[in-house]
Amino acid sequence: MKISIPLLKTDQPNYWCPGCGDFGVLSVVKQTLTELEFHFEDVVLVAGIGCFGKIPNYLNMNSFKVIHGRVLPIAIGIKLANPKLTVIGHSGDGDGYAIGMGHLPHAIRKNIDLTFIVHDNGVYGLTTGQTSPTSMKGYRSKSTPLGSAEEPINPIALAIASGATFVARIYPSGGRKNVEHSVKVLRQAIQHHGFALVDVLQVCKTFNKVNTYDYYNQRIYQLEETGYEPNDRVMAFQKALEWGNEGLPDNGIPIGVFYREEKPAFEDQIPQLKEAGPPAHQPIDSIQISKVAARFR
Ligand code: SF4
Repeated sequence: MKISIPLLKTDQPNYWCPGCGDFGVLSVVKQTLTELEFHFEDVVLVAGIGCFGKIPNYLNMNSFKVIHGRVLPIAIGIKLANPKLTVIGHSGDGDGYAIGMGHLPHAIRKNIDLTFIVHDNGVYGLTTGQTSPTSMKGYRSKSTPLGSAEEPINPIALAIASGATFVARIYPSGGRKNVEHSVKVLRQAIQHHGFALVDVLQVCKTFNKVNTYDYYNQRIYQLEETGYEPNDRVMAFQKALEWGNEGLPDNGIPIGVFYREEKPAFEDQIPQLKEAGPPAHQPIDSIQISKVAARFR
């Protein structure tokens, strides 16, 4: 059965705060999956821990809710078990760029074919507002009442430096133009054959009083509108360093596709997958594990 916006609806009550940026992400994901004309059996969603992690509750589709920071290992396992599936991971700046950070560069260098969407709100929202890896320097919160002394992680620069073959940022809020742009970019990310990072500027209305809708609405601009071509890694890295008015020539925050490159995906290069096909489709009736199991008794 084909995915459609009405069929994705669940009867779960929504616990996100009114005005949370996650509503925009949910809407864009629904629209993108519908536009791509996927069938329900084609797609698996994996979500970690954070406010965003409730997204499987609000999408009636095959989903895994996993422990904190482990979206990528589970998503990679699903993809290797059945490379025919489209696998989409949802993470947050805490889940994906702190506890789960060790997995990110390795998933990138594998170039495994999956899409990693990071709901990046610059704060730990679920635990009521502590400083996160992407909180801006000087950010005051319960955990840094005098202001954060640390530089924030730059996920776009990190992904490009790690060799990512698709790196993008979206802002699915602040009007129709941004929503349509987000759908367009997310569609490209999902269709990309290889690892795709999509960092989402997701406003935490309740706890992050710095990176607000006003903050982003005044600064974001679409890379495509400047004639930017996402095929030069050095230029992409330079663009990744732009953030607001920090002394760089452009004082905006770019959104869109920073970098894209075609390379074989990890699963294309695994001889066992090529020869025997997806493990999920292999017969298991004739496999005898009793001898191996006996060694562990
Ligand atoms: Fe959204 Fe922040 Fe509320 Fe969490 S705490 S639901 S991120 S507004």
